[in-house]
Formats: sequence, structure tokens, C-alpha cells
Amino acid sequence: MNKSIQETLEKVFGYQSFRLEQERIINHVLIGKDCLVIMPTGGGKSLCYQIPAIVSNGLTIVVSPLIALMNDQVAALHELGVSAATINSSINQGELNDIYAKMRDGKLKLLYVSPEKLMAGDFVNYLSNFTISLFAVDEAHCVSVWGNDFRPEYIQLKALKANFQTVPIIALTATADSTTQYDILKQLGLSDAKLFLSSFERKNISVEARSGLKRIVQIVDFVRQENGNAGIIYCLSKKSCETVASKLQAKGIKAAYYHAGMNTEDRNRIQRNFQNDEVQIVCATIAFGMGIDKPNIRWVIHYNMPKNIEGYYQEIGRAGRDGDSAKALLFYSWGDYVLLKRFIDEGEAHVTFKKVQSAKLERMWQYANAVNCRTNFVLNYFGEYRSDGCGHCDNCIHPPKIFDGRIYAKMALSATIRAKESISSSILIDLLRGSFKAEITTRGLEKLKTFGVGREVPVAHWSHYLTQMINQGILRIDFADYSKVKTTPLSQKVLYEDLQVSLTEYEGYKKAKAPKIEKKPIDFENIDQDLLVRLKTWRNNLAKEKNVPAYVILSNKSLQQVAAEMPTNDQELLQINGIGQKKLDSFGEIILAIIRG
Ligand code: ADP
Ligand code: ZN
Repeated sequence: MNKSIQETLEKVFGYQSFRLEQERIINHVLIGKDCLVIMPTGGGKSLCYQIPAIVSNGLTIVVSPLIALMNDQVAALHELGVSAATINSSINQGELNDIYAKMRDGKLKLLYVSPEKLMAGDFVNYLSNFTISLFAVDEAHCVSVWGNDFRPEYIQLKALKANFQTVPIIALTATADSTTQYDILKQLGLSDAKLFLSSFERKNISVEARSGLKRIVQIVDFVRQENGNAGIIYCLSKKSCETVASKLQAKGIKAAYYHAGMNTEDRNRIQRNFQNDEVQIVCATIAFGMGIDKPNIRWVIHYNMPKNIEGYYQEIGRAGRDGDSAKALLFYSWGDYVLLKRFIDEGEAHVTFKKVQSAKLERMWQYANAVNCRTNFVLNYFGEYRSDGCGHCDNCIHPPKIFDGRIYAKMALSATIRAKESISSSILIDLLRGSFKAEITTRGLEKLKTFGVGREVPVAHWSHYLTQMINQGILRIDFADYSKVKTTPLSQKVLYEDLQVSLTEYEGYKKAKAPKIEKKPIDFENIDQDLLVRLKTWRNNLAKEKNVPAYVILSNKSLQQVAAEMPTNDQELLQINGIGQKKLDSFGEIILAIIRG
């Protein structure tokens, strides 16, 4: 058994060794047992069911909610010589008949279906005519209301275990806090499943959070330093995708935008161009990236704070899938928080669901404001408890400096009280700094005793301090009253009982250094750039011809290694990362010819 899975890994996929828990998971599935796999994005979940599918008799059914993802996986499997198909709303009757014929002839190894299709009509019944080797439920968090993306269609998947008691089920997700993990097992009826929790730490991603002042200036600076590297900027609204893109364009930066309001054709074009490295930056809503498996995304920026840690971590996980170092930069502000809170409160959802969402938003806000290791914050959230710092987040690299903030707290509190708790945090800052803006003078605030007492403290610093005071409960924002700043019982203690107030210094944008990480040796010094260009041209043309993303043919890393080592025969080609027997058969000859040329 072990030999055949190792062989499949090498011959079909062209990889030398299993990652994380892959091997244990595959063996578990092959002895017919159920499991729940929690593995971060890019960790390699697909292999956990693809290899059992290939080595077992019969058909593996993969349930996935995302058509783009299914299509990509099927295309990639075809490239590897594995027989796979997908049934979803985008195929016609003729294609469907072909798939059924293949199933009857026992020629199909993997069938990807959406949960709706799987449960519609008597498809499940029809499946019982075949030998089913395995059910794989991808994005399994969708089955739980405690998850971050509940989908009612998923609930029906409980029928799988009931109807196919002897067929193992593997549920997989990159995002499930500990409550959700338990609920997934319950919802799928997996009473005896093993939990495989791989570490969520992405050591090659350096994470950083900054307060969202002058975001565009900061982004332009960031992008220029990235020097042409591909990245995604996630925005909250369709409108801001467009405005951010156009502001960057105005600075001479090539950026495109992508959101659900665009037509399919435009969206596909942007996605394709991004995958093929023709577009460097995409400003997008979270609709972008679901089906993307581009290995060389070097950075992800969140222009707005996301609504929960699950989403955030999923999105930054799209960076650095090739294992090279990558960056994740989060901008956050009270404005983001308030807006997201309003979406939840004004939404149609059930009150329980709203509570879950609000609690998740709260945790996200705490993450953004964290002064300790951010990686640990996330790991703890996903049930992987650890206290040693990660060494690749901003707080580990530059631990924030803490000082006695009583003077600033007293200034802010007395200004709030003298303004009769009737102003927002931005006007409070203007008041403290002695600004003569209309918002101040029309209210007569310039006559207050506290007017200008905090003149020497810059706006960004005030904003940073006020956020912390709010987080510490010394002040509060009254969302029900136009987000005005108000006092709390603790305010009195600060003013009259000298309660300690510790604040962290504002440091502007501290630049987290990308960490050096261990990886398979590619001799970058020796890359023949000329050869690399020729290899890429060949690959990109072939990808266009076949209408698949370029990495499906061969990754940039593989090409770099070829251009550095210049293999002269099949044996040497097989030593390149990402080249297995199938790729050797398909492309070996031409690659060797390009090298010789
Ligand atoms: P996930 O579904 O967990 O986000 P994927 O299954 O798409 O991740 O895998 C991410 C990338 O890692 C893919 O390009 C995949 O081919 C690659 N990969 C998976 N397992 C291995 C392995 N053992 N060795 C090398 N690369 C791997
Ligand atoms: Zn850290």
C-alpha cells in the first residue's frame, strides 16, 4: 500500500515526499475510515483524496461548492493523465451523457459535483449502481452554521453516510475554529472520524497590521518596493475595488479590478491575465481567489479589515503557495469595524447567526489591535495552542513599546466630557489638536478648556491611542448614537483614581522583513535567464493553446530549476521539482530540445 501511494506521488504528481499529514491521512482513508482534515490553504488537501482515488478501485466523488475550482482541478488532473470530470450547472446534456458513459465503463476515477447536483433528483440512487471508493467533502466548514460560510445545500450531505455506510468520507477545510470542527462531524454524521489538524502556521508569510490612515500612500510605497511582484488587494466593496485600482493606475502602477458586479467574460479575462503574470495587481472583493491556485502571489493586502479571522487567514493564505517568502498587510480602522457591524446588524440573518458573526468580528478587531504575536493569535483561534512567538509577524519583529499613557487618557476623557459626549472620534482628535475646522467652530468647541491640549501629538498617533483606549474600555463608541465617543465606568477611575493606562507607541509603518526560509535548493545564481525566457514563452504559449493556467503545465519554480541545472536527459529531468513521469512523457523531449537550442 505504502509503496503504491509513494509511487503515485512520484509518477503521477512528480513530487518526492508527502507534506504535513498527507501520508497518514491517505493511509487512513485507504483502510476505509472517515476523517476530518483541517489544513491551511495551499497545504495540499487535494492530494489527500486524489491519491486514494487513483489507487483504489471504483469512483471517488468530490463535493465542492465552487465551479471554478472544480474546473481547475479537473484540468490539472487531465494534465497528469488522470481521468476526472465535473458535473455542475455549466455543462450540457451531451457532456453529461459522456460522463455517464465513462462511469458505466469504469473509466472515471474522480467525479467533482456541487452539493446541489449531488442531492438533486435521484442522483444519489444512481450512484449506488457503481463502486464508490470515497466521498470527499471539500470546504466542509460550509456544513456548519458556526463556520464562516454556511451553505444550506450542505446540510443534505448527511444523507451520504446514511446511504453509503461502508464508503469512507473525508471532509476537508482550511478554516474551522474548534466549535466548527466538532459541528462538521456532527452534521455529516461522522461519529467515528479521526481529526487531522495540520499546523496553520505559514512560516513563509510575514504578517503585519497597520492602522488604515492614508492607505493609498502606504500601498503605493509597498507596491513599489515589491518591484513587479504579483499581489492581491482585497477591498470590502465593488466600488472601492474600482477606486483603489484607478488611484494606483494614476500613480503609474498597473492594477486591475475584479468583483461580482462584472460580467463573466471580464472576470475570466482578469483572472486569466493574473494567473499568467500579465496583470501584476488585482484589487478585488473576496469573490476573487476562490478558484485561484497561482503559486507565485508574493503579497496580499487587506484594504479593509475582513469580517472574521477565517476569511482573513484564507485570503492571506493565497500568498506564497510556492513556499517562497511572501507578505500579508492588513489595514484596519474604526470605520471598517462600524461598517461590518452594521452589515451584520442590518442583515436578514437569524439572530443566532448574527451573534456568531458579531463574536467573530470582535475577534478580528482584537487581532488587528493585538500587541502580541499575531500568528499565535490565529493558531489559538483554530485550536492549535502555542505561546512562543512566531518570529515572522510585526509584533515579534518589532515588539511594540509600551508607555504610561495616563496623560493622554486624561486629555481625551476630559475633552469628551467637556464636549458633552456629542462628538465622533475624528472630531475629538481635531478638538484635542486645536483645529479650526468647521465641525469644531460650528459647535463652539474651540472655546473649551481642552481645546488644543494635545496639539503636539500627530493625528495618526491620536487615532492609535484612542483605539487602544476604546479597546481597554476607558472610552466607548456608541454605535446607536452616530458612533459618538462616550465615557464608561472606567473613565471615572482614570480621572479620579489614577487607574493605570498602558499604551503602545505609534510607530508609523514598520516594515516587517521577509524571513529567510529553508527550501528545496534551486541554484538561483546559475539560472540562465535567456533559457528561462525561452522556457516561459514555450510554456505560456502552450497554456494559451490548451486554455489552462500556465502553472498547470509547469510552475515558474520548475522552469527556474530547469534553467539553472540544464538537465541533459530524462533521468535528470525527473530530478526537477514538479516533473513526474507524465510531465516527462508529455514535455520531456521538447524541454530538452529547448535547452539544447
Ligand atoms: P489546498 O487545497 O490545501 O489549498 P492544494 O491541494 O491545491 O492545496 O495544493 C497546493 C499546492 O501544493 C498544489 O500546487 C499542489 O500540487 C502542491 N502540493 C501538494 N502536495 C504536495 C507535495 N507533497 N509536494 C509538493 N507539492 C505539493
Ligand atoms: Zn509572531
